Amino acid sequence: MATRTPGELSTATRPVITAHEVRRSFGGTVVLDGVDLAIAPGEVVALLGGSGSGKSTLLRILAGLDPDASGEISRTGSQAVVFQEHRLLPWKRVVDNVSLGVTGGDVRQRVSAALAEVGLADRGRAWPAELSGGQAQRVAVARALVREPALLLLDEPFGALDALTRLRMQTLFGRLHAEHGFAALLVTHDVDEALLLADRTLVLDGGQIVENAPVPLTRPRAPDDPGFGPVRRHL
Ligand code: ADP
Ligand code: MG
Repeated sequence: MATRTPGELSTATRPVITAHEVRRSFGGTVVLDGVDLAIAPGEVVALLGGSGSGKSTLLRILAGLDPDASGEISRTGSQAVVFQEHRLLPWKRVVDNVSLGVTGGDVRQRVSAALAEVGLADRGRAWPAELSGGQAQRVAVARALVREPALLLLDEPFGALDALTRLRMQTLFGRLHAEHGFAALLVTHDVDEALLLADRTLVLDGGQIVENAPVPLTRPRAPDDPGFGPVRRHL
């Protein structure tokens, strides 16, 4: 059993990420003007905001990809990122894209399991160019899942997909979240998507979080919830 100093929060309740006073300017333009947020383990937080409001900038900072931002970020677990475009390496097969940088003796099994979870068990030997947009994004999700992240950062992950594929991906996300229990920051400009998938929504405007509101718990969330909708349940 892990020892803790008295008064210290257990890892079960400590946020997976905390950001304090995050600021970022480009040239003279202030994009983020003091952003604070915290995400609890297993919590899905949607980040809404108009085009150019700084959502991607904030996500990159949270992902540790922007050395020029200021503020404090603390993390308690691993994280993985899914971007709007899949960012698969075209010269690597699907399995090799998913396993890239993953270590351990059971990598092959973990990659197979992740691909099976996103419905692509039989596409491991394919090249990225042979996949549809939706399949490629599923591979990007598998690549994130295989890292068993405590926090998934997703930047409009379904935004480039057609409506039906987007619905399928939202359903997949709900199922994966129910099974794995990762926390997620889901950047989206789709309010319906936020209400469907998130526990809480943040709105970014003028460089700050101007709204922070829980999503009512009454709405159906996972595909097997009664009321999720006959169409969604069969996707
Ligand atoms: P969102 O994702 O909400 O649409 P972004 O975070 O991509 O917004 O961009 C916020 C603002 O910051 C925009 O005005 C954008 O032009 C500017 N911006 C983002 N990245 C850069 C960069 N690398 N250099 C200059 N300006 C940038
Ligand atoms: Mg963006």
